[in-house]
Amino acid sequence: MIKCKKCNEKMFFEGLCKKHFIEYFENKIRATIKKYNLLTKKEKILVACSGGKDSTVLAHILKKLGYKIEAITIDPSIKNSSRKNIDNLKCFCRKNMIKLHIVSFKQETGYALDDIKKELGSKGITIAYCTICGILKRYLLNKKAKQMKAEKLATGHSLDDEAESVMMNLLRGNIRLMARLGPIAGVIKSKGFVPRVKPLYLCREKEIETYSKLKKFPVIYERCPYAHSSYREIVRNEMISFEKKYNKTKENIINWFLRILPELKKKDFKKGEKMTYCTVCGEPSQKTICNACTILEKLENKKI
Ligand SMILES: [Zn+2]
Ligand SMILES: [Zn+2]
Repeated sequence: MIKCKKCNEKMFFEGLCKKHFIEYFENKIRATIKKYNLLTKKEKILVACSGGKDSTVLAHILKKLGYKIEAITIDPSIKNSSRKNIDNLKCFCRKNMIKLHIVSFKQETGYALDDIKKELGSKGITIAYCTICGILKRYLLNKKAKQMKAEKLATGHSLDDEAESVMMNLLRGNIRLMARLGPIAGVIKSKGFVPRVKPLYLCREKEIETYSKLKKFPVIYERCPYAHSSYREIVRNEMISFEKKYNKTKENIINWFLRILPELKKKDFKKGEKMTYCTVCGEPSQKTICNACTILEKLENKKI
């Protein structure tokens, strides 16, 4: 029997027994929050939950560490898949005594994700599912967080997610979007933006999954059925096969990125530069009409 490096128990994950793995994992998140000054115990924190493992683990640990949290989920109204995720999330939140807010695409925009894609397609506009979903989710999360007077939005992004995002922006040469990444997303503080923080920033997906399974959280471990053909998924698969040959590739990317990030953020927005707002919805935006309103307007036009 291989023993834990800290005690005499049986090894469970990378040299640690179950008890010491849990301790290691929770400490890592606590240390990340402290190091990057992500959250305080006085703040009202909204955790963006999908019903998947990352955000479920995040909500569980923040609650355990004594943060004031509520959960919010944006339902893209994808048949079956999102139904099951939302049922799981309801069950988890009930057990953990976390207040849950459910916001749906259908309720907020009049359309489910499928219909949005179809409508746009019939107008000759092809936008990938993941792009539409991402834009509308970010928009609704920020809008609802402001309405609820939340001081922070916490998301379940892992080290793997972040390494993929860094790589995607590198491959596309998009330095401005890259500057928006990091443990605290965004570049400048603005009253229109509820700051988004990523307490799982230094956690590998493998660790998160192990923790989630150990705690028997009710989650589906499959990826979103719409994700398979997205650019992110292609980059993700390439990086997985790369990492099989070269250990710690993703950690190396993140370590490098964290070193250049302060410079990137400084260069992206010059001092005194102001945030501009969408003329339609009033949400913060770099363009006169934000991406979400651009999509929604195209849908409206179709109806007329
Ligand atoms: Zn041990
Ligand atoms: Zn807008």
